[in-house]
Amino acid sequence: PEPSAPAEKVSPMMEQYHEIKAANPGLLLFYRMGDFYELFFEDAEIAARALGITLTKRGKHKGQDIPMCGVPVERSDDYLHRLIALGHRVAVCEQTEDPAAARARKSVVRRDVVRLITPGTLTEDTLLDARANNYLLAIARARASAGADRIGLAWIDISTAEFIVTECAPGELAATLARINPNEAIVTDALYSDAELGPLLRELPAVTPLTRDVFDSATAERRLCDYFAVSTMDGLSAMSRLEATAAAACVTYIDRTQLGKKPPLSPPSREATGSTMAIDPATRANLELTRTLSGERRGSLLDAIDCTVTAAGSRLLAQRLAAPLTDVEQIAQRLDAVAALLPDPGLREALRTTLRGAPDMSRALARLSVGRGGPRDLAALREGLRAADQALAQLGALEAPPKEIQTVMAALRRPSRELAQEFSQALADDLPLMKRDGGFVREGYHAALDETRKLRDDSRLIVAAMQARYADDCGVKGLKIRHNNVLGYFVEVTAQHGEKLMAPPLNGTFIHRQTLAGQTRFTTAELGEIEAKIANAGDRALGLELEIFERLVAMVQQATDDLRAAAHGFALLDVTLALAKLAASDNYVRPEVDGSLSFAIEGGRHPVVEQALRRDGQPFIANACDLSPGPGQQSGQIWLITGPNMAGKSTFLRQNALIALLAQIGSFVPASRARIGIVDRLFSRVGAADDLARGRSTFMVEMVETAVILNQASERALVILDEIGRGTATFDGLSIAWAAIEHLHESNRCRSLFATHYHELTALSAKLPRLFNATVRVKEWHGDVVFLHEVLPGSADRSYGIQVAKLAGLPPSVITRAKSVLAKLEAQDRGQSARALAEDLPLFAVTARAPAEPSPPTEAEQLIAALQALHPDELSPREALDALYALKAKL
Ligand code: ADP
Repeated sequence: PEPSAPAEKVSPMMEQYHEIKAANPGLLLFYRMGDFYELFFEDAEIAARALGITLTKRGKHKGQDIPMCGVPVERSDDYLHRLIALGHRVAVCEQTEDPAAARARKSVVRRDVVRLITPGTLTEDTLLDARANNYLLAIARARASAGADRIGLAWIDISTAEFIVTECAPGELAATLARINPNEAIVTDALYSDAELGPLLRELPAVTPLTRDVFDSATAERRLCDYFAVSTMDGLSAMSRLEATAAAACVTYIDRTQLGKKPPLSPPSREATGSTMAIDPATRANLELTRTLSGERRGSLLDAIDCTVTAAGSRLLAQRLAAPLTDVEQIAQRLDAVAALLPDPGLREALRTTLRGAPDMSRALARLSVGRGGPRDLAALREGLRAADQALAQLGALEAPPKEIQTVMAALRRPSRELAQEFSQALADDLPLMKRDGGFVREGYHAALDETRKLRDDSRLIVAAMQARYADDCGVKGLKIRHNNVLGYFVEVTAQHGEKLMAPPLNGTFIHRQTLAGQTRFTTAELGEIEAKIANAGDRALGLELEIFERLVAMVQQATDDLRAAAHGFALLDVTLALAKLAASDNYVRPEVDGSLSFAIEGGRHPVVEQALRRDGQPFIANACDLSPGPGQQSGQIWLITGPNMAGKSTFLRQNALIALLAQIGSFVPASRARIGIVDRLFSRVGAADDLARGRSTFMVEMVETAVILNQASERALVILDEIGRGTATFDGLSIAWAAIEHLHESNRCRSLFATHYHELTALSAKLPRLFNATVRVKEWHGDVVFLHEVLPGSADRSYGIQVAKLAGLPPSVITRAKSVLAKLEAQDRGQSARALAEDLPLFAVTARAPAEPSPPTEAEQLIAALQALHPDELSPREALDALYALKAKL
């Protein structure tokens, strides 16, 4: 126990605690006390709540109880993991001397923070998700006059050394953040509390505002040069000043959290603005790219297409999906590679088997370079290099490997094979987790080590022989030589024989040390000597092993770039194989991707729904979609899709967005034919879910997202709008949908798909030349509705809402009543008014900037409006009746 002080005084331990705590603001302090890490004060309260562990007290500070909680050191990884996942940052403070030394000094044990653990700077496998990148993101801003601000971003995965920088406009920040999906972000205080961008940043999983000096542009270049140990960054990478500022913030933060250790990073590579398809967060969520709307990976597009067999491959695929390309040439290269691996399933399987045996080299590499690696990380590199040779031999079967495969082969060839050989010779078969456990160097690798080990092992035999000799000499059969940490080696006999050894002549040899209840213990001079010999040999052997370890690590460090390249080569190969496998097993075709504004899909399918239906033994009905500019047209088309609920409208919309996305990540697509002119921006507004967390109603969310689309979509965008206007009164909704289509057609002029249950909108096609009506076919059969899921030209004649309601199990009396109300309403033909509207309204008053104000409605229009506002399918019989009375009263 540590010295404690009177209640009113601050104990020396608490003094030390507060000093360390003050030096690490904003971090939870894990303070080492024997076998526990303990947390105090507010830290204890936060951790106890987050981890569900007991909050207790330990002593007093200035007369007050000190709240405390603790976690056992040996299980601390698990607790750390949970805290980090919740976005906390932790400082681990260890005892840096033997407590005995402190006792001798009559003082508190020396302690020091040995590492800072933050969500974005992890290297341990136990703390990392193998299949996801772990990014630290720094965000800097350059202020400019009126709305011309720029944002600089730099992100790093220290577990794989990736380092990327880019710039964007403030308006693009949301989409960029969604794409990068950082685990931790650092920003300036000013940005954190900025009225416009602050809320966006504060929504990130873990975001830390830092002082200005970290984001100082004047010292950025110098800090980067220091990190990379070069005199100028010019040769390493081309960056704007703003990008360099963000990049410097990243390395400064890494320097701080790694306490001066410098994990190797690739030089920052610049992501060209506009080189990837922009996809805003709402669209990502709506299209369920990496997670479903309910937050699971299962059921997402990534889950459906992820046939990779390595964690690094899975990470790369997720990266590609997050950032589809916009460069025709690059896409073609990826497609070429998939195509090359497609025809030979035997080769594919052989390569995949090889990859399965290749461990996560880049993460092993990262651990070794920050001094947290163990023998198994070296073994991982050995296995990796073995796999590289094997993969190269297998790839040799390809006659004319396309460029991307050549890149893979070149990468796999880079590390020197001597390294592999050295590892094979040096490392034993069974490896301990920690280097300090020893025993990882193979016998026969190092002569001096073998000799020392022999000495150690021989000594053990000598002890065994001594035991036999002592037993003989004393005439005590049960005599044993044992070992513990207090006595070292000692002789043990039962209490009844103890007397004998303590009496002459034996007491000349045996020195009494300890009497326990049943046993008596002795040492001998001879045992002491052997003991020293064994201990020495053991220490020397471990020392030699550690030397060898360090030498191997140094070799690895020399070869870091090559090993990293090889690791990337594997990931590339894994992704390409996975896409080839997917194309083969799910019958995908190679899309034609070009610079046109085409979007022509034949036999298109939804990649995720198709798989789900297949599991249930159901077929997926393929559908064509053509949004290409028609003859004589300059811009793409808008398809307006009507059809009852459950017919397959949403599925159709999403599948076309997903096909475009897959094509641009360089994947084959679920269709029989696809020609796609590059999409630079994908927008989707699908379904409606209340965003209660942000205090917005469904309708508000819907309108905010629609506004983004109408304001930002350019001719190269692809826009998916599903049931816009559903969240408000029918008349409002119809008008908004109506005006939105006009705006898309006249102003945005982008390829769009628009699903609606307002059949009135189909009248618009008469006036808008690039608007095309399509409907999802259903069949009525004995009064029930049968969904055929076929998308055909035309418009739905009716909505079948009552039939769908019947399928859902509404009571028969309600169904019957609804039918009769509907019949009465239909007799008045509410569609007519909409046709009239399409004829009369000055539709083309819309311009890019200022949509025309509609003229105030006439009385007749108001009545028509009231009729349109009625949606019989959505009314209860009682409401329908009330509505009829209300209408009658207006006459
Ligand atoms: P809507 O948007 O018209 O209400 P959905 O797109 O949600 O309809 O589709 C409803 C269900 O119909 C889907 O869950 C799916 O199981 C099935 N479905 C949709 N499209 C197809 C298709 N092309 N082939 C087979 N089943 C389909």
